Amino acid sequence: MRHKLNFEDTKIAFSLKSNKEVKWANVLFTIIGNRQLTAVARPITMFLLFIRFPIIPILKRTVFKQFCGGESILECKPVITNMFNKKKVCSILDYSIEGKESEEQFNFTLNIILKTFDFAKSLEATPFLVFKGTGLGRFGIFEKVSKKEALNAREREEWENIEARFDKICKQCSQTPNIKVMIDAEESWIQPAIDGLAEKMMSKYNKNRVVVFNTVQLYRWDRLEYLKMLNQKANKENHLVGIKLVRGAYMEKERERAAKKHYQSPICNNKQATDENFNKGVYYCLQNLNVFELFLGTHNELSSQLLVDLMNKAEIRHNDNRIWFGQLYGMGDHLSFNLADMGYNTAKYLPFGPVKEVIPYLLRRAEENTSVGAQTSRELYLIKKEIARRNKSTNNYMADRILS
Ligand SMILES: Cc1cc2nc3c(=O)[nH]c(=O)nc-3n(C[C@H](O)[C@H](O)[C@H](O)COP(=O)(O)OP(=O)(O)OC[C@H]3O[C@@H](n4cnc5c(N)ncnc54)[C@H](O)[C@@H]3O)c2cc1C
Repeated sequence: MRHKLNFEDTKIAFSLKSNKEVKWANVLFTIIGNRQLTAVARPITMFLLFIRFPIIPILKRTVFKQFCGGESILECKPVITNMFNKKKVCSILDYSIEGKESEEQFNFTLNIILKTFDFAKSLEATPFLVFKGTGLGRFGIFEKVSKKEALNAREREEWENIEARFDKICKQCSQTPNIKVMIDAEESWIQPAIDGLAEKMMSKYNKNRVVVFNTVQLYRWDRLEYLKMLNQKANKENHLVGIKLVRGAYMEKERERAAKKHYQSPICNNKQATDENFNKGVYYCLQNLNVFELFLGTHNELSSQLLVDLMNKAEIRHNDNRIWFGQLYGMGDHLSFNLADMGYNTAKYLPFGPVKEVIPYLLRRAEENTSVGAQTSRELYLIKKEIARRNKSTNNYMADRILS
């Protein structure tokens, strides 16, 4: 029997949000949905920061509050507790600092990730860690390794340091019975180096249980083959594979670079082709659950429904520990809270970090939302629906009081 999920239940979706927060989300998503406004957001924010205009407190109370858990792990704690205790939605602390370049900064990021590990290891609400390769090493070195270019002695040392940082995080997680770690996917021209390290970590630490997850972006037409290759490799080397499936976040950048450098774009020709590729990836992982664990990172309702259908068909329990659904904090609450309400394993990336440092992440989020307009209009539609529902129930309550 098909188990149709009701993602339109906005009462469940926004149950943790106050009236004021829902109204603010309405304003924010209206702004994000406007291409002209989003296009000027980056230069204006950078200019205000440059002239030291006190924009940080304003950002903290507005856009930061919508998309981030706090400035520190401790500040995120109430959000984590609230989502888990009230709705059984887990959190994945995501230290969202981007674009750093020095060894000192990479070691600093490593230490923060190890602190999230210390925090997460004893809590049921935080079963995953996450990190970005470029949070632990220079973009340029990932690019060079991806191109298989020879490294000089200093670069070799740099690369060894990056591998040691990956290893330290994965090893810590492997020494617990429950914590898993996801490695984010990035631009295609640095992804081979990230894949190489992720595969090394999986073959080292995924022997008895899945500790390490690599991310596969299915807006790339070549990545189904990569999934198949991972399966074969794991069977040969006798280990398990953790996979976070996403569509991919760098579409415009990828296409621009491919056009500029005259190579074939790695991105599927259109959205439909991406969707088909994504669906095939979901099927493939489910068919190979003896090897794969799957984390479905999407705000797409049809994709989430597809996985629910496939699980039902295969008679897989809703809370089977090999399958997770994931969204980003501040987005896709209609999926997260309704899925968790039905007993499916659900987690939200919870970005954190000092407001000033998180600004590039926030701007990227806004730009990405604008470029995939359907997502924003869906969020906006649901927020407006919830505001109308709340207004109606207040009116009914007032009418009842007057009439009684
Ligand atoms: C928990 C979580 C973790 C994530 N981790 C990563 C990560 O590690 N790396 C990463 O890159 N992204 C990551 N993302 C972002 C993700 O890749 C998508 O950008 C985002 O989720 C939007 O896709 P969707 O499936 O939610 O929704 P949809 O709205 O169904 O799809 C939008 C996506 O479809 C693709 N698309 C849109 N138009 C076209 C077109 N014309 N042609 C081809 N493809 C098109 C693009 O990928 C676009 O982002 C993550 C997302 C979540 C929720």
